[in-house]
Amino acid sequence: MAEDKRDYYEVLGVNKNADESEIKKAYRALAKKYHPDMNPGDKEAEKKFKEASEAYAVLSDPDKKRQYDQFGHAAFDGGASGFGSGFDFSGADFSDIFGDIFGDLFGTGRSRSGSSSNGPMKGANIRTSVRITFEESVKGVDKELELTLKDVCTNCGGNGARPGTKPETCPKCGGKGQVVYTQQSLFGMVRNVSACPDCRGSGKIIKDKCPECHGTGYISNKKKIQVSIPAGIDNGQSVRIREKGEPGINGGPRGDLLVEVVIQRHPIFQRNDMDVYSTAPISFAVAALGGEIYIDTVDGKVIYEVKAGTQTDTRVRLKGKGMPSLRNNQIRGDHYVTLIVQVPERLSSDAKEALREFDKLTGDTLNAVEEGSDGGKEKKKKGFWNK
Ligand SMILES: [Zn+2]
Ligand SMILES: [Zn+2]
Repeated sequence: MAEDKRDYYEVLGVNKNADESEIKKAYRALAKKYHPDMNPGDKEAEKKFKEASEAYAVLSDPDKKRQYDQFGHAAFDGGASGFGSGFDFSGADFSDIFGDIFGDLFGTGRSRSGSSSNGPMKGANIRTSVRITFEESVKGVDKELELTLKDVCTNCGGNGARPGTKPETCPKCGGKGQVVYTQQSLFGMVRNVSACPDCRGSGKIIKDKCPECHGTGYISNKKKIQVSIPAGIDNGQSVRIREKGEPGINGGPRGDLLVEVVIQRHPIFQRNDMDVYSTAPISFAVAALGGEIYIDTVDGKVIYEVKAGTQTDTRVRLKGKGMPSLRNNQIRGDHYVTLIVQVPERLSSDAKEALREFDKLTGDTLNAVEEGSDGGKEKKKKGFWNK
């Protein structure tokens, strides 16, 4: 009876001001939960599914929604026989919702969508990776990869059937490669398209398989492929080799081979974009007096003039000694070197004496507590707290 029906908004769990997308979202969740295909034999789920579908059919249609808002269930009460019968679903569009749901549930779909068409199609891309050294990434390098690639079987010409025989049209799908599931028990017009399970979307059944390829139409071959890795390539970038991927379909071109470059860590150099970073130790004397030092760069050793009075952790730039640009090798990044002043750990007594002498001469002992002045510590403390 009409009086027993739950409010459509309540059924979907939305409020009266819910907009189209909220209504759709709520229904989608319920449909997914209660769909009979997901709950075989469960009468309660089926009832909930029908109830939600009816609510959605009304609330998703602006005209019907208006009538329902005004007259309630009486607006559509075609009889006293309960859910479903006599209810007109024709105004509602379920197709995209079921398309979504069944796409999710059965994995039908886009990835296979081309398999039943007869036009030439490009084959799938293949991904692989290659390790190179940091130095190789600077100069560029040619590598040889050994890969197993599929080729169209020459014995059967790729159709998978024993020579002299032919693949037959799949009787289940009539050669279309797709089957249509209709939800007739609920709505006559709900259709779902899925890859044919008998022929797996190919539209053909091979009764007598080609002995070479076992009916797959492809043969795997080990192949050597040259890959030219350009100077300046960064870790994780890929080199594309055209038409070395999976074979094309119906005479289409092969897919591409994408070779990801993995660069080994370098013990000295780090890279960031086109710039290179490293550290270089310098002696206290060179830091204080200035002087020439060797610095390792990606081009080899270079001589660098350290300025007198250089502090530890000073970063200097070697312009144009970084990585080459992938597009134009004449353009280079920079090399930044952090100079670390080394404090000597072992000193001869002569060296120690020279350093004490040095201290006296400079008169600059910084925060050192001078030997023999017992008031020193006290004074420093006070000075600190007084500030
Ligand atoms: Zn074959
Ligand atoms: Zn089929």
